[in-house]
Amino acid sequence: MKAEILAALRESEGYVSGQSLCERFGVSRTAIWKAVNQLKQSGYEIEAVQNRGYHIISTPDILSENELKSIRKTEWLGNKIYYEPVMGSTNTKAMELAEKGAPHGTLVVTDKQVCGRGRRGRNWETPEGSAIAMTFLLRPEINPNNASMLTIVAAMAVARGIEDETSLKVGIKWPNDIIINGKKVSGILTEMSAQIDYVNHIVIGIGINVHTASFPEDLQDIATSIYMEMGEKINRAALIERICEYFEAYFDLFLRTEDLTAIAKQYNAYMVNRNQSVRVLDPNDPFEGKARGITARGELLVDTWESRRLVSSGEVSVRGMYGYL
Ligand code: ATP
Repeated sequence: MKAEILAALRESEGYVSGQSLCERFGVSRTAIWKAVNQLKQSGYEIEAVQNRGYHIISTPDILSENELKSIRKTEWLGNKIYYEPVMGSTNTKAMELAEKGAPHGTLVVTDKQVCGRGRRGRNWETPEGSAIAMTFLLRPEINPNNASMLTIVAAMAVARGIEDETSLKVGIKWPNDIIINGKKVSGILTEMSAQIDYVNHIVIGIGINVHTASFPEDLQDIATSIYMEMGEKINRAALIERICEYFEAYFDLFLRTEDLTAIAKQYNAYMVNRNQSVRVLDPNDPFEGKARGITARGELLVDTWESRRLVSSGEVSVRGMYGYL
């Protein structure tokens, strides 16, 4: 009921009477009063004025299930929200929940991710209270060969979401690093459980540096945060909500053709290394060329001095000629 009370208080510009909340939720005034008190204890500033009712003044920067539910605008993403203050990795938790039957659209969120993972066993740092670590659990009826394109769908959603919630110019480094001023603000890790022709489930993990004020030395040259770029702290729950809305919209576009036909052009406009010289770090066959954008299947087009090559994300990293970008 707390999520619904929060939503009701936000809907109204003025005061909401205790009586109207009782009637709306079919509970006693004392139950409402208790719930409001618990919300205050979690950090919400709620004013209670006799004969007028309740009025919400401010929302803390918390990622609880109640907060996320109370601002949710999506149709199916976040239909189930699984929040815990501390988790190993949101992708691992989402995989566990999937095995137990959690539905398509489940959103897994934590405030402190202690074993965040990147691709190929690399680490993803998630300092407590300063980042977003979340995973979308999906059960789409698609060909497993098309699943890796969802990482591009997620990258578009994160880029658009950050842009809407900040005043920052956001770009994407193929396939899915989100970049602000040449540094990485967010990483995405897509994992799948599938049979040859059937997807059991897909988890898309998204890590975003939001309030982070500094990074360990080895990340200082490549990592940044929204706070470091903007000098202000934004509300993390609002950013999650925005990204979920965009993800739903782009996911629908993806499902129509099971590829990126409807998204590629927009993605290419966000691509920071488009028309730049890049090094493709393919473990078997590294090469250099000019990145030209993505195909409708999400592969990177690279023009080398002799031919045009198609790079699929899998095992490959792309770097600039002199560094990360
Ligand atoms: P590559 O471009 O090399 O293929 P990637 O995009 O596959 O990298 P990820 O798996 O998304 O990389 O992320 C892991 C890497 O991101 C780590 O090796 C580290 O360099 C970097 N990293 C780890 N934590 C953070 C963070 N909080 N912010 C930015 N970068 C980070």
